[in-house]
Amino acid sequence: MTYLTAAITVHSLEQALGAAVRAAELGADLVEYRIDTFTEDPNDITELVQRSALPCIITCRPTWEGGAYDGDEQTRLSLLEHAGVGARKPAFIDLELLAFEKSANLRQKISLVVDDPDRPRETDTGLILSSHDFEQRPADLLRKVKDMAEAPLCRVIKVAWQARSLRDNLEAFELIGQQVKPTIALCMGECGLASRVLAKKFGALLTFASIDGDAGTAPGQPTLGEIKKLYRWDSLNADTRVFGVIGYPVGHSMSPPVHNAGFDAANINGVYLPMPIPPEYEHFKATISTWLAMPRLHFGGASVTIPHKENLLRFVREEGGPGSEVEELAERIGAANTLQVREDGSLYACNTDYAAALDAVCDGLNIQRDGLSGKKVAVIGAGGAARAVVAGFKHYGASVTIYNRTAERAIELAGQFDADAATLDNLASSNADVYINCTPIGMHPNIDASPIPGADSFKGFGPGVVVFDTIYNPIQTKLLRDAAAAGCATIPGTEMFVRQGAAQFNLWTGKDAPLDVFRDVLEDHLSRK
Ligand code: NAP
Repeated sequence: MTYLTAAITVHSLEQALGAAVRAAELGADLVEYRIDTFTEDPNDITELVQRSALPCIITCRPTWEGGAYDGDEQTRLSLLEHAGVGARKPAFIDLELLAFEKSANLRQKISLVVDDPDRPRETDTGLILSSHDFEQRPADLLRKVKDMAEAPLCRVIKVAWQARSLRDNLEAFELIGQQVKPTIALCMGECGLASRVLAKKFGALLTFASIDGDAGTAPGQPTLGEIKKLYRWDSLNADTRVFGVIGYPVGHSMSPPVHNAGFDAANINGVYLPMPIPPEYEHFKATISTWLAMPRLHFGGASVTIPHKENLLRFVREEGGPGSEVEELAERIGAANTLQVREDGSLYACNTDYAAALDAVCDGLNIQRDGLSGKKVAVIGAGGAARAVVAGFKHYGASVTIYNRTAERAIELAGQFDADAATLDNLASSNADVYINCTPIGMHPNIDASPIPGADSFKGFGPGVVVFDTIYNPIQTKLLRDAAAAGCATIPGTEMFVRQGAAQFNLWTGKDAPLDVFRDVLEDHLSRK
């Protein structure tokens, strides 16, 4: 069993006990009381353990190991000793390896409080020996783990270090699997989230979570709510397939809540994580290669966003191995947003953005994709989103004109896909069946702007015309409001987001995505922004 452990910084007895009750309500199995700055009265610690709503770990972390305790060792030892004097004992006491190795007195005293294989007695309190590095992976990490493993008094090995990249998580998983003693191996910081969420998949003794976002005890710690609900803690097991969104930055991506809710609704044994990778191709290649090289991770694929869409194409082309493929249209667009790791280990890179735009518009026109042939489509903008849209509509035979602020960019893009190019002021005389906004004009906070100025009296709008805005914040942009008022069918950018995600879901799981769940989660997230 992997214990979901709430980290509680103790300020007062009542605050800490109340926090433990809350942790139990939120689904924690265990609490860690960080008593670093709590008290100098050892009796307070005894009382804390007696009255705790959940089994507990007692930790008094000194400043030299990243904690806040700056008193003397004698007092610290006395606090720890008193954790074990009442009828109820703590489940664990945590002590730093460095302190343990340095002081024979401390080893002797602590051996009286914790379970000692040499001296069987009435306590089940286990000793966690721990080591933390808030800067980097310590050069002597393996030596430390070995020392912990060989110390007879040590029941649990704990190492935590600042992750430099997503690759560090893999070493944490390896360490957990290699030890004969229960092990906690966690990476701190944004890149270490996988080690925290997947601790259960790899059989760690526990993972830590905060009760609310501000009260964590280490960088990168998720909240209990996030780990339980967003990352599907209860359903994680050794076979769980791992997916994610690769980007930089990626912290605010809406894909994790959307895909995890989809896995939940469709009963898929999968979890979806944010995967920050710095922009350069070498980082992308090194990270994805190592994630793919660990079969027990069951890495099933990823959504890929800025700045890695070109890197994904190159990676699959150059490193994919036998049977790997890049979708032809993704190659022409020059960007892929989806990685699929197939069962035989081969890779597939494709672009679900253009397909999402195509299908959203076809639904609006009530036609199939081949019905797009000959339709007049006005694409506003000539950036990355426009590129995918132009490629998709041209592929299905639409007559596409690109309207852009910078004429040269429109001409260049049009030249690549055999479309027409024009500047924004030419929109006034356009007479299209479909208008697609691929610029950020009208996006929050500039919600009163529209890429078609004076759209409320725009002659191109009317019944039978479809207007699609790729912007999803706000969901109803000024462009869409004006178009709807003129009788057009309108499609918000959320549809593109939902459908590109749904196509990924289908590719990874072989099942149709629960579109309504995707929509609800996305709209819920947007409404809270
Ligand atoms: P991009 O590559 O930076 O391109 C932006 C385009 O907008 C360029 O053509 C640019 O014109 C034009 N533009 C920007 N500001 C403008 C202004 N003030 N006036 C006139 N034109 C302006 O960006 P992108 O990746 O294509 O993304 C564009 C938009 O698409 C985003 O804002 C986002 O809302 C949306 N999007 C939505 C989804 C979805 O899933 N719903 C996915 C991707 C993108 P110049 O060439 O003259 O600079």
